[in-house]
Amino acid sequence: MKEGIHPQYKPTTIRCACGEEIETSSTKSDIKVEICSKCHPFYTGKQKLVDTGGRVDRFNRKFGLK
Ligand SMILES: [Zn+2]
Repeated sequence: MKEGIHPQYKPTTIRCACGEEIETSSTKSDIKVEICSKCHPFYTGKQKLVDTGGRVDRFNRKFGLK
C-alpha cells in the first residue's frame, strides 16, 4: 500500500446559508452551501415549483390549449 494516493479525509463542518451546521468528513474544509436538508424545499414542504405550474397553465390558456 502506497501512501498519498487516497485523499485525506478529516472532520469538517458544512455551513449552510440558513445557519445549519453539519458535521461530516471530507477532503475539503470549511464547506459552505446555500441549501441543506433543513432548508431544502423537499424537506420543508415549500414548493418552489408551484409557480412553474402556474406559468404553464397561463401559457396553455393564452394559446387556447386547454
Ligand atoms: Zn440550510
